[in-house]
Amino acid sequence: MTESLQSYIGGRWRDASGPEYTTEYPHDGSTVARLHAATAADVDEAVLAAEQARRQPAWAGLRHHERAGILYRVAQGIRERAEALAQLQRLDNGKPIKECRALVTSAAGTFQFFGAAAETWEDTVTPSRGDYLSLSVHEPLGVVGAITPWNSPIASEAQKLAPALAAGCAVVFKPAEITPRMAIELAKICQQAGVPDGIVSVLPGKGSVVGDALVKHPLIKRIAFTGGTTVGLGIQRLAAEKLMPTSLELGGKSPTIVMPDADLDHAVAGVLYGIFSSSGESCIAGSRAFVHVSLYDEFKRRLLDGVKRLRVGDPASEDTQMGPLVNLGHRASIERYVQLGRDEGGTVLCGGERPRGGFYDAGSYYLPTVFEGLPNSARMCQEEIFGPVLALLPWQDEADLIAQCNDNMFGLASGIWTRDFKNAWRIGRALQTGTVWVNTYKLFSISTPFSGVKMSGYGQEKGRLGILEYTSQKSFYIGLNEQPMPWALS
Ligand code: NAD
Repeated sequence: MTESLQSYIGGRWRDASGPEYTTEYPHDGSTVARLHAATAADVDEAVLAAEQARRQPAWAGLRHHERAGILYRVAQGIRERAEALAQLQRLDNGKPIKECRALVTSAAGTFQFFGAAAETWEDTVTPSRGDYLSLSVHEPLGVVGAITPWNSPIASEAQKLAPALAAGCAVVFKPAEITPRMAIELAKICQQAGVPDGIVSVLPGKGSVVGDALVKHPLIKRIAFTGGTTVGLGIQRLAAEKLMPTSLELGGKSPTIVMPDADLDHAVAGVLYGIFSSSGESCIAGSRAFVHVSLYDEFKRRLLDGVKRLRVGDPASEDTQMGPLVNLGHRASIERYVQLGRDEGGTVLCGGERPRGGFYDAGSYYLPTVFEGLPNSARMCQEEIFGPVLALLPWQDEADLIAQCNDNMFGLASGIWTRDFKNAWRIGRALQTGTVWVNTYKLFSISTPFSGVKMSGYGQEKGRLGILEYTSQKSFYIGLNEQPMPWALS
């Protein structure tokens, strides 16, 4: 059934002003939603309403514990609708239902966490060096723009909305054009939780129209962006024009290292999960596996065995491990990369094609694919594919291994499989990535900061200090001297 969706603009649910478009279920290509794309005029309306709303006592006058109360109610609202939200997210981007449930749970936890962070936030009395009292306080930045991709909507949206609201900002949201539903549902839950009208707006539509207008709007004081590196660079350039802070959570090409002493069962399971969960449509996908030569053949045998057992199928099924890719266009881009890998001299050990027959033919399915025989310098090993494609790379010398891992423009995440924690510490410190996982992969906690380095971006999401990204710091000096300032009297 096709549902009609509306945008939420300045506290009003209505059709946006741009052309109508539809979104499709990746499993079978059926139309799931119909909505109008937003325009620059809609952005302007939302931002002006947000600027007005954020100054009202109903928002600006809230004490920390009162704002926290609203965030707790949002968390509760998400939990009450958890199953429905998970099913909607599945229809939006075709993720297996179990993954969708986990993302919904994490989104509720994010609001809970930032509610607690808001409630317990303390400004600082700094050590005085004279006859004065000095303080460092934090104030909301104002209206912020949030722009998100399609791969894990409810989680990435919560990671922006929750700290922004906790800090006292207003948020104008631009979800990915093809996955608008989670931001819309979150806005409804915020409204029911008592977030005043105008504080949250949601404007689905094209990045080049809505995203661009948001970034350029003079009243937008910050952009929180998650998406590709090329778009992130464009946002950075525009932001420089008005000296606007941004956080850019961008792409990755994460290396996973298997050391000679690794527990192979753990390493194989971890590498499989690292690249093939979410069909590889994950910024932190472990897409380059560097395996020590001493166990390369055995690792490869077990890995390919594991791939054969992966259940690629209907995202609605409780059994499915890998669903379809987000759409046919994205699958075509992955197919081009696989052809490129072949052209560059790589050997496809498994996959390298679509599954065929039955429902597979209607959806945007692709088989888990493993390459070997490519050097790290190959484009296949350098560029983000954002799909279920793994490159196996044997290594022998540790210094060369580290150089190869770091020889990539991205620096998002990495994994190390070893029984020796001295290895893990030494190598982990040498890797140029924002996150290092040791004997685990894709593990996340809302209380631990997340950010990339190099072309994977910058700016902290998650972690208690994630709130600071949405504030400006103000210093206060309160003079305590009983006498006039001596300089003027001398
Ligand atoms: P994308 O960069 O194409 O789009 C991301 C968002 O930006 C979308 O909402 C899009 O409409 C918008 N956008 C596009 N052009 C814009 C413009 N000119 N101005 C403003 N906004 C614009 O990325 P995608 O294909 O949706 O998502 C995949 C990418 O996201 C991958 O590179 C992946 O690694 C990255 N990602 C990063 C993280 C992270 O935390 N580092 C997490 C998830 C995804």
